[in-house]
Amino acid sequence: MAEKVTDIFGVDVFNEAVMKERLPKVTFRAWKKTMENGEDLDPQIADVVASVMKDWAVEKGATHYTHWFQPMTGITAEKHDAFLNPAPEGRIILEFSGKELIKGESDASSFPSGGLRATFEARGYTAWDCTSPAFVKEDAAGVTLCIPTAFCSYTGEALDGKTPLLRSMEAISRQAVRVMKLFGHRDVTHVSCSVGPEQEYFLIDHEKYMQREDLIFTGRTLFGALPPKGQEMDDHYFGTLKERISSYMKELNHELWKLGVFAKTQHNEAAPAQHELAPIYTTANIAVDHNQLTMEIMKKVAKRHGLECLLHEKPFAGVNGSGKHNNWSMVANTGENLLNPGKTPNQNIQFLLFLTSVIKAVDEHALLLRYAASNPGNDHRLGANEAPPAIISIFLGEQLEDIVNQIIETGEAKDCKKKIFMNIGVHTLPEIKKDATDRNRTSPFAFTGNKFEFRMVASSRSIADPNTVLNTIVADALCGFADVLEQVEPDEFVQKAMELIQKELKAHKRIIFNGNGYAEEWIAEAAKRGLPNEASIVGAIPALSAEQTISVFEKHGVLSRAELESRMEVSYETYVKTLAIEARTMLDMASRLYIPAVIRYASELATAIHTIQSAVPTADVSVQTKLLKEVSSLLAKAQKAKESLGKKLEKAHAAEGGRKKAEEFYKNVVPAMDALRKPIDILEGIVDKRIWPVPTYGELLFEV
Ligand code: ADP
Ligand code: MG
Repeated sequence: MAEKVTDIFGVDVFNEAVMKERLPKVTFRAWKKTMENGEDLDPQIADVVASVMKDWAVEKGATHYTHWFQPMTGITAEKHDAFLNPAPEGRIILEFSGKELIKGESDASSFPSGGLRATFEARGYTAWDCTSPAFVKEDAAGVTLCIPTAFCSYTGEALDGKTPLLRSMEAISRQAVRVMKLFGHRDVTHVSCSVGPEQEYFLIDHEKYMQREDLIFTGRTLFGALPPKGQEMDDHYFGTLKERISSYMKELNHELWKLGVFAKTQHNEAAPAQHELAPIYTTANIAVDHNQLTMEIMKKVAKRHGLECLLHEKPFAGVNGSGKHNNWSMVANTGENLLNPGKTPNQNIQFLLFLTSVIKAVDEHALLLRYAASNPGNDHRLGANEAPPAIISIFLGEQLEDIVNQIIETGEAKDCKKKIFMNIGVHTLPEIKKDATDRNRTSPFAFTGNKFEFRMVASSRSIADPNTVLNTIVADALCGFADVLEQVEPDEFVQKAMELIQKELKAHKRIIFNGNGYAEEWIAEAAKRGLPNEASIVGAIPALSAEQTISVFEKHGVLSRAELESRMEVSYETYVKTLAIEARTMLDMASRLYIPAVIRYASELATAIHTIQSAVPTADVSVQTKLLKEVSSLLAKAQKAKESLGKKLEKAHAAEGGRKKAEEFYKNVVPAMDALRKPIDILEGIVDKRIWPVPTYGELLFEV
């Protein structure tokens, strides 16, 4: 592994450089045009690309190819086909046609569709996404050429994360270009979204993981008492990496770099055994694919190191959970970042207009954004004192908030707070410029210099949905602005633009909050402002079928009513299935592990009391007796809670319809799960360690 990074970076990717080198000039140019202008691809060109792509992959050892897609399970799917084709005299030749590259057919009935199609209409198609490069992946099955694809039904409805994302990217580009034209940028023909997702994860020992049914089946611990030491010393955050972890990170980087993933930053996170990886940002579509790959490779490399990588939002109660910070901005084809405030943001009307479009979009679609960041696991994280609250608000920082306030009050911003130099008080240290905005870790949606950071996103969730929603709602806000300003005479443009900004900021200032998002007062304040505060994903899912959502998504051609409704069904189903697996795992562990262990301990105590008393009738057995009483009482509580959970689970399953079922699970099954966990976690602190049937939090978190 002593190779230079520049030598290994992207070696497994059929990227533009490889295409330029290997494709005939005309083919390369035609492909590039398709890529850049979103034109249809000529079938003959596809044939040439396919053949060159196959040769390249075969040189890398590939025997198979797969259409790599992202169904609504949140993870990627692949079906492998060999390049084999029969040739005369019983021989074979390796072939791969343009048709095979462009279109794949797969049985869609085994993937979630939310009722979009009946099982007998099982046909689904995968279509080549030529904007995300193909790559080869090596595993025990050999080397496979992976072709990023979109996945849709026989009737063309989206069944995946990529299709709406690509549609939303086109939508925001169309609208942002209109606005840029108003500012005289004739050379702007395309605007893309840049995304940099920071990924948090846990690493624990594989042997210990294998002893925990809950981790295996649900990705999180369903029982477990806090160890004597948690994260209170703040000694893990940015701490020196343990040898085993740094060797994991080294190999992870190596694997990601080969795949052209710009893995850049790595460090320990707040909780023990928690870490983070941040890539350099790139176009939304590629960022989504890369993040899916990153999660997959994280898990794969962990196993090679005797580790297990947990991507769940809350693997351990009582210590920080994991999220994904989705950094997002808009970049024109000229390279200009549209969210760059420049030195004097108060005079930068173009920036202020784009900023206002985000503020308006987030305020109007707060619940939808809350949904797009969520999965069942994130319910355990949002609103606890570690992650942004379940309320969406925007942090702008001191400088921009001041500008926004000036505009709201007077229609213009006369001045702007400047960057200042910090005096550290040591002459040999350099003078450091303070950033215009301090960090605010408590905000779910924070402006951080030249981008927004959406911090609510669940760590294991695909970032396709959050970015689809962001792109679409901002596209809609920009569309409204362009509609107004395109009607304005040039000499009035500045004035009218400022009036529009003032009007929109006034209307949406309630979403701006620069204070402490963890504070109790904020919850009351947000309620006063009328901001939605849904504690669970179950309450956010209906945002998908709100008339407002449907009209915006249909208007910009991102998702139809039927597609949105199908996503709603899938979300309810996923919630119910996830919770049902968790509840059943709890019942199983309680029945077959914890309760028998506690009974054994209780019997040992009883035997001890007997033995001592028969040896020395006057001996003091008060300790043993007290323990036995305590243990027996907790045991009875556990048994009762277990029976109650079983009943609640049955009742929830009997509810009619996705939404009702999900609500039943949230209202009744979740509290019953908590009730079962409680006595068992207390027992963990009492029962003899040698009898306890599973590794404890202390062992899982500190013995990596
Ligand atoms: P931090 O949040 O720790 O201050 P950084 O400034 O390093 O982090 O950025 C975090 C992430 O944001 C990285 O993935 C980075 O590539 C990404 N990022 C930086 N600029 C942009 C941008 N203009 N658009 C999208 N993502 C960006
Ligand atoms: Mg960050």
